[in-house]
Amino acid sequence: MYTMEELIRGIQGCGCGREHLCPIRTLEISGGALDRLPALLEGFVHILLVADSNTWRVCGARIAESLGGRAEALVFDTGDHVLVPDEAAIGAIVARVTEDTDLLLGVGSGVINDLCKHVSFAHGLPYAIAATAPSMDGYASVGAALILGGMKETLSARPPMAIIADTDVLREAPMDMIQAGWGDIVGKYSCLNDWKLAALIRGEYFCQTVYDLVMDTARRVEGLAEGVLARDGEAIRALMEALVAVGVAMSYVGNSRPASGSEHHLSHFFEITGIVHGQPYYPHGVDVLYSAVVTAAIRRALLESAPQRQAFDRAAWEKEIVRIYGGASQGVQRLQDRLGWNGQDDSGDVLTRWEEICAVLREAPDEAQMRAMVSAIGLDVREFGAFYGEEKIAEAIRYAKDLKDRYTVLWLAAQYHTPIGWKA
Ligand SMILES: [Zn+2]
Ligand SMILES: [Zn+2]
Repeated sequence: MYTMEELIRGIQGCGCGREHLCPIRTLEISGGALDRLPALLEGFVHILLVADSNTWRVCGARIAESLGGRAEALVFDTGDHVLVPDEAAIGAIVARVTEDTDLLLGVGSGVINDLCKHVSFAHGLPYAIAATAPSMDGYASVGAALILGGMKETLSARPPMAIIADTDVLREAPMDMIQAGWGDIVGKYSCLNDWKLAALIRGEYFCQTVYDLVMDTARRVEGLAEGVLARDGEAIRALMEALVAVGVAMSYVGNSRPASGSEHHLSHFFEITGIVHGQPYYPHGVDVLYSAVVTAAIRRALLESAPQRQAFDRAAWEKEIVRIYGGASQGVQRLQDRLGWNGQDDSGDVLTRWEEICAVLREAPDEAQMRAMVSAIGLDVREFGAFYGEEKIAEAIRYAKDLKDRYTVLWLAAQYHTPIGWKA
């Protein structure tokens, strides 16, 4: 088990042969952390603070006051709406960056963090984040998730130089954001299994140290459900540490492989089809947790039947992609045409190693265990089933894989099992 200090220092001489580096210099997760923020950001005197009306009210105004003449503030007037990380929001931040600006300081969680991370990377500026909710694992990660041209895209960026999280602020976050953070971590059971699967079938890069780090983190967070629901300060601090640790794990590898697999692809399906068709979807980590129940069911279905190579019908696939992804379908088709995985015959590798594949699939928590985790954090799988409906969930199982260039159990299921249905 690594301490957070050891984690941000990085791991040299790892058995996987890669150097695991982390550019975070300051990490402060504690009660009253905001009192120390002016000192932690010592040396920066032309800070652009970025908040929205909500995070400004939560602690942005207080931070700006404590920084005095060292900071100017940009506050997005979002009213009751959620800020969207799109071209307009990026432009608004860029317009406030001057030659003198020496630091971007985001005050917020997912969206503000992604926006500041992107602008800082694009303009070669350091950035720091004052976290307002333990809601997702992107604080320390390398990618910035944006909505560009109406589509969700993750652009390469760099982690912040400082993460400052005051647990007195975090524990007051809306409960669904806290549940989402917990779900984002517990969903790692699913993506870690996908990582092993991809290493076995596709010979993909794999690091046992990073795998163990994320697995230990998921186990620890699973045990925090009760404390997190009670907004216990220590449980919230441990959850925030876990969210940062997983972000660091992604930085180590240079992409989101250790933290995002089939359960994330299902959650992206619900988010993207929601954006395209104007339908509602859950907070990211809540979708991830429910989706991890579905991916457990997919693994069980594969374990319970002999593999049967499925024919790929290009015309039928294309028709479904257009119907499901609407304006986003061209991008999906281009990506899959470039990859060529649909229709590619890998049965030589898959069928001869079927026993080994099953052994990997069996390592993940089963569906009953995942359902128990959902209940433990106060959520209800039946509500998820009713929210999206069986038909949309079945479509997600078949077509979420096409959103990504990453091998997961969704590809195995699509290519070696008759279409899988799922009931809440
Ligand atoms: Zn390694
Ligand atoms: Zn996530």
